[in-house]
Amino acid sequence: MKVQFIGAAQTVTGSKTYLQVDNKKILIDCGMYQGIKSIVDKNYNPFSFDPAQVQFLFLTHAHLDHCGMIPRLYKQGFKGKILCTKNTRKLAEIIMMDSARIQQSSFLDFKRDKKVRKSLKKQREALYDENDVRGVLECFETYDFDHKISLGKIDLTFRKAGHILGASSLEIHSNNMTYYFSGDLGRMNDPLEYAPYIPKKVDHLFIETTYGDRLHDKEDPVEELAKILKANQKSHGRVLIPSFAVARTQLLLRHLYMLFEKYPELKLPIYIDSPMTKKVTDLYLQESGELRVDKNTLQDYFSIAKFLKWQSDYKKLERDQHPCIIISASGMLSGGKVLQHLNTIARNERNHIVLVGFQGEGTLGRDISQGIDIVKTKSGKLPIRAKVHHLHTLSAHADKLELETWIKSIESGPTNLYLMHGEKETVENFKTYIDEKFNCKTTIAVENKEIEI
Ligand SMILES: [Zn+2]
Repeated sequence: MKVQFIGAAQTVTGSKTYLQVDNKKILIDCGMYQGIKSIVDKNYNPFSFDPAQVQFLFLTHAHLDHCGMIPRLYKQGFKGKILCTKNTRKLAEIIMMDSARIQQSSFLDFKRDKKVRKSLKKQREALYDENDVRGVLECFETYDFDHKISLGKIDLTFRKAGHILGASSLEIHSNNMTYYFSGDLGRMNDPLEYAPYIPKKVDHLFIETTYGDRLHDKEDPVEELAKILKANQKSHGRVLIPSFAVARTQLLLRHLYMLFEKYPELKLPIYIDSPMTKKVTDLYLQESGELRVDKNTLQDYFSIAKFLKWQSDYKKLERDQHPCIIISASGMLSGGKVLQHLNTIARNERNHIVLVGFQGEGTLGRDISQGIDIVKTKSGKLPIRAKVHHLHTLSAHADKLELETWIKSIESGPTNLYLMHGEKETVENFKTYIDEKFNCKTTIAVENKEIEI
C-alpha cells in the first residue's frame, strides 16, 4: 500500500490521505483547510493527484475539514464512489450546502458592498456552488457500522468513532494486514455519543492527535455554565454562546437542561439563531438510535430552546432586550448569524460571551478569547465590553490520556503508528510521549510525502 499524506499533516485541517492499493486509487476524506489566510489559500491549489482517477472516497465524518472539498473534487472531474455511513451522508449534505451558500454570498457581498471591500481588501471566488454539491451527492453510497464491504482484494468496515453523529473510523484489510484510520476520535465519556470502537488487531494505525499534548479540563461544564449565569443574573445582561452547529450545540443544550434542573432559579429563555443548527438538531433527534440517550430524553434536552425562524423574530429579540441566552453559529465567529448578535451584545458590559471550543488562529473567536478589546470585523471595528469566558470542557476529541488508553486497549498491535491531524508541536510532543509508552514505530505525517507500507 502506498500512502500519501496530503492534508492534516502537522496541522488540524484539510484532511486528505491518498492510498494506492490493489490497483485502486482511494482518497480518505477531502476536507477544507481553515484558519489563517495563507492556510485557506491552499484550498485553491490544484489537487496533487488527478481527481478523475480516484475510484473511491472513504469519508470518515461530516465536519467541513473532512468533507468540505468534496464538491470541488467533483467539479474537477471526480466520478468515483463516496462510501460513508448513512448519517455522515445526511450531515455532509447540510454542511456542504451551507459552505457553498456562504462562499457564494461572501463573494457577492464583496462585489456589492464598499464597506466589506474596504475591510477585506480581497475575496476569492467560491470554490464550488450548490449545483456541484447536488451533483456530488449522487456519488454517495451509505453503509451501516460494523458491516464488511468487499472491494476486490480490500475489505472496508466503518467503526464507530464517537466524535459526532455518523462519525467513523476505517478498518481496512488488505494482504493479511489491518490498516486502521481513526478519523477524529471522540471522548470516552461523552453524554451523547458512545465511546470510540476499539479494534482487536491493528498492524498500521493512523491516528489523529488534535489534543495529543493536552488534557481536557476536568470541571463539570454544568457548574462552569452555572457560574456564568449567576454572574449574568447580577448584571441583568444577555449571554451569547457562539457554537458549532454539529454536536456542540446539542451537547450544550443537554448541559443547560441539567443546569436548569439543578438551579431552576437560573432558568433563562434560550434562543437559537442558526438555520443549519436547526437542521442538524432535527437530524440528531431523528437519528437518536445511534446515540447514548433515547429520543424522549433528547427531546427534553432540545425543548428548552426556541429556534428563531424569521428575521422578524430576530428584530423582536433585539427590541425586547430581556435577559436570555442566544446560541448561534459559527463557533469561532468566522461567519454566520452569530456576527449580528455579537455586534450588539459585545458592546455592553452587562453581557457575557461564552466561547465553547477550540478557536482557530486567524478567527475572530481567537482574538476575543485573547482579550483583544477592539476587534476587526467585516463591517468595521467592534469594542468588546461584554465579559468573555472560554469553556474548555466540551471538546469532541479525545485528549492525550484518552488517546493513550484507546491505543492500549487494542489487543494486538499496532506495530506502526502514524500521527496525523495535530499541530506540529502537538504531534512532536505526542510522539515523544508515546515512544516512551509503546514499543512500536511512530511516524509523523509529512505533507505530500508518500510512504510505502
Ligand atoms: Zn471532526
